[in-house]
Amino acid sequence: MGPSGNLQIDCAPEMRLQLTREQVYDLEAVLITHTHADHVMGMDDLRSVCVVGGKSVPVYAIPRYQEDIRRIYPYAFIDTPPGIWVPRFDLRDVPEVIHVGGLEVRTFEVMHGKYPVTGIRVNDFAFITDVNHIPPTSIEMLWRLDTLVIDCVRHEPHPNHYHFEATMAVIEELRPKKAYLTHLSHEFDHNSYEEGLPDHVRLAYDGLRLEF
Ligand SMILES: [Zn+2]
Repeated sequence: MGPSGNLQIDCAPEMRLQLTREQVYDLEAVLITHTHADHVMGMDDLRSVCVVGGKSVPVYAIPRYQEDIRRIYPYAFIDTPPGIWVPRFDLRDVPEVIHVGGLEVRTFEVMHGKYPVTGIRVNDFAFITDVNHIPPTSIEMLWRLDTLVIDCVRHEPHPNHYHFEATMAVIEELRPKKAYLTHLSHEFDHNSYEEGLPDHVRLAYDGLRLEF
């Protein structure tokens, strides 16, 4: 049997629906890459994980984002009378390696406009959402990959995200065996768009499963 356990990366507003669809009912830990609304507004739904598990959920985030989480969800940190069910966040700094679900999750930073965003690498798989610049100190984390999942928000240049041309240039430079574009806007009609892409570049989609 392979490793078990789940690491939730970011908590989108529709996280609860996604977890229910995928029948994921327990989370060992959560990693918040940054605190834009589309990445943290589902955190309240972590309450069910806390209630069922009877404990707080470990949440990894860099210090500046821990402050945001405390401000957005103050009730996750104050004492409440028994019988009141609230989410409980055990905030932790992002270490270089997170051991979760039997996996070694290596972390690094990329830039999203002027904001740092945590990227992850597990074996030969890497995931970087919300990025428009990969600093030289992080680039080696993205070499020799089987699979790269990377931001591609739209066709026109964007101040805080890679747009299609920029994403393709990064893929060309890093040469992963396979790349999946994510954070896609409505501009990308899935089926027709994929026909025009090289074979090793695909569009990510809800429920996509990868082995690594
Ligand atoms: Zn963002």
